[in-house]
Amino acid sequence: MSPAPRWPFGPDTRICVSLAEPDTTALGERFGRLEGADLVEIRLDALDAYHDLTPQTLADLVASCPLPVGFTLRPAWQGGGFEGDESGRRRCIEQAAASGAAFVDVELDAEWVADFLDLVGCPVIVSHHWDSTRPTDLPEKVARIGELAPSMAKLVATADVPSDALPLLDAGEQLIASGQPATCFCMGEAGKASRLLAAARGAALVYAAAAVGSEVAAGQWPLRELVEELRVDGWRRGAGLCGLIGHPIGHSLSPAIFNAVFQERGLDVAYVPVAGEDLDAVLDLVIGMGFRGLSVTMPFKEEIAARSARRDELVTATGAANTVVFEGGGLVAYNTDGGAVVAALAAVRPVETAKIAVVGAGGAARAGAAALVNAGADVTILNRTEARAREAAELAGASSAGLEQLERGGFDIVVNATPVGMQGTPMAGSMPFPPEWLSGREVVFDMVYRPRTTPLLRHAAKRGCTTIEGLEMFVRQAAAQYRLLTGDPGAEPLDMMRDVVEPLLIDDRVAAQEATDGDTDMM
Ligand code: NAP
Repeated sequence: MSPAPRWPFGPDTRICVSLAEPDTTALGERFGRLEGADLVEIRLDALDAYHDLTPQTLADLVASCPLPVGFTLRPAWQGGGFEGDESGRRRCIEQAAASGAAFVDVELDAEWVADFLDLVGCPVIVSHHWDSTRPTDLPEKVARIGELAPSMAKLVATADVPSDALPLLDAGEQLIASGQPATCFCMGEAGKASRLLAAARGAALVYAAAAVGSEVAAGQWPLRELVEELRVDGWRRGAGLCGLIGHPIGHSLSPAIFNAVFQERGLDVAYVPVAGEDLDAVLDLVIGMGFRGLSVTMPFKEEIAARSARRDELVTATGAANTVVFEGGGLVAYNTDGGAVVAALAAVRPVETAKIAVVGAGGAARAGAAALVNAGADVTILNRTEARAREAAELAGASSAGLEQLERGGFDIVVNATPVGMQGTPMAGSMPFPPEWLSGREVVFDMVYRPRTTPLLRHAAKRGCTTIEGLEMFVRQAAAQYRLLTGDPGAEPLDMMRDVVEPLLIDDRVAAQEATDGDTDMM
């Protein structure tokens, strides 16, 4: 058997946009919007007229695309759209291979795959897809790939939970270490992280959707996110790993911030978001992949604190962590929210002499209140549910009261630690308390950072208050996480983080303006 042509795109991970369109006109429109991609895969089985494809049509597609084009004609027996006999399908793939294509994709279980690899002059991806999780025949498929030695190997299972991807990721590392270019990961929402982890472990390709809603397979990342936010093209094989866990995390700014800062600072670390509802399945994946540490968000902040072997003072006081670092096989939990609240306020006025009202009694309120008390401030927690205010105050060493206490005045600083005013929720456009309760002398800080200028901040500024955006807390808690995750003793990358976040919040500002063009409600 003669070896298939070498994979021509080098050892680095390439971003390949998968296009499944009904006709060549629609494909042509997509060709104009491929910024940041390296390659294109055209799913011929998605074309309405795939039975009538001619060598000329295929050559025209290759010639009209600004990027190298590969072709796939996936049969129904591997989850594709092609219904027909195998000889016709083989003929069409042979034509595709002769059209100037950068690669063609052929199924490992196609009976003719070995002959095809012998004869074809074009790089061949040999692929296998399972619609099941944890396939028992994975070792046989890996062995068969080893015998065939295609230009690139693609093995894809389906994940129900994030940790289902571990065997596939291991298989990918094994193939790549043996010199066989490969990409092995899981489909499905629970497999999203595995696509990124495969890239961080040297996969030949990461498949991207042209845009949100144009996914050819479940769990594909949109091209823009891969390029602009995750910056996958800057990851190197063997990079250190850290990331974000929680559910949902789709709108988190952390992957964009951390990947930008890691690359600006020349750190060989990839920051990977891992979404999942079950903490065990999330931790199995990140521990199995050797993550150094994690940012942690809802709903895991309390559960991870409870499971950690060691906790910082604030985690001990509040029972919630937003950062964990893996040390000596155990978890060490930190809370950087509290320090960020103190630092954001201290940048505007001293906190140790201040009488501070914290509105809200959830995790962020508790962390902020406890850190402000530690800094010497006189803190009162006010909440719509007074029992929760009392409980939070006890943990934080603060006082508590009903929300109406705010109306009586006397506070130097008012902190909103409720989600009221947050974009994309029924509370957008609303105030956590009536604006008339502000005298105009207070510093008003809103933890909500989407939109940047919340209704509370807008009203407070109108009444003459000094205002602080939630963004100021966000970048500070992230900068403190950066230190914990990397151990980098350099200056905190606050300005760098602000520079990354600000453009991402511009759309939000427009949305906020639209939302507040109407009346502001009270919650
Ligand atoms: P949480 O644990 O869910 O607590 C929410 C608190 O807000 C609870 O005390 C709740 O009152 C109160 N609340 C919810 N809806 C309300 C409404 N309609 N009217 C009055 N009070 C209401 O949330 P969290 O984790 O503490 O986060 C709170 C906010 O801070 C979120 O918007 C989050 O995005 C933001 N945050 C920002 C940063 C940053 O870096 N800027 C960091 C962390 C959090 P009950 O007790 O009565 O239910």
